[in-house]
Amino acid sequence: MSNLEHTIAKLRKRIAKSLEKSNRGTNSVLLLAVSKGRSAAELRTAHKLGLDHFGESYLQEAIEKISALADLPLCWHFIGALQANKTRLVAAHFDWAHSIDRLKIAQRLSAQRPANLPSLNVCLQVNIDNETNKAGVSPGEAQLLAKQIQALPNLNLRGLMAIPKADANQSTGHQSYAHMAELLKQLQQSPELAGSQLDTLSMGMSSDLEAAIEEGASIVRVGTALFGPRKPKTHQ
Ligand SMILES: *Cc1c(COP(=O)(O)O)cnc(C)c1O
Repeated sequence: MSNLEHTIAKLRKRIAKSLEKSNRGTNSVLLLAVSKGRSAAELRTAHKLGLDHFGESYLQEAIEKISALADLPLCWHFIGALQANKTRLVAAHFDWAHSIDRLKIAQRLSAQRPANLPSLNVCLQVNIDNETNKAGVSPGEAQLLAKQIQALPNLNLRGLMAIPKADANQSTGHQSYAHMAELLKQLQQSPELAGSQLDTLSMGMSSDLEAAIEEGASIVRVGTALFGPRKPKTHQ
């Protein structure tokens, strides 16, 4: 067994264990392989081992890999910070964007989505721990932005995404993730959002995916636990 094959198996076991612990269906979590900093060749290998959803944060690097791997049936998720100057390429090359936190960005993505592609799947990023330097809408702002996004023609509002604070422990992690699940439920129950798919909680990373899955995560975003530690990134 190769290293990667071994880590994938280990990770799938962690996910299965958490699903079982919370009485959830065996296939109810999507493993999003966070592949920033990894080469196209590594992703090709990962695909051979069964991974087909990849998450990228750095746009130029991502576009190069997407083009190098265009022969494979992969699903690409943009999970990095979204500024106005990035929307055109994200709209043209990705299947998902997880980090929407402003109407302006959503409007641009919708307007720039090529007509031959299906709607771009989007999640609202929620600043779940109300951190001053972190992207994301406050929990109280999520409803309004969700309603505004649902009115845009070329976006498919799928749910919510969060990155909890870096020093979260098991217990605060559970609290933040439970709060996310509550917020998604409120959106699902809002009559004005009745037509939206709203089936996604994108939360949980290498170190805390158990807490996230136990609180209802439907996508876990895992980098380090799959590919090993990353070199520090000095530019975007
Ligand atoms: C890098 C990154 C991840 C993966 O984090 P790991 O701890 O390496 O699993 C997940 N989500 C986002 C938004 C990221 O930028």
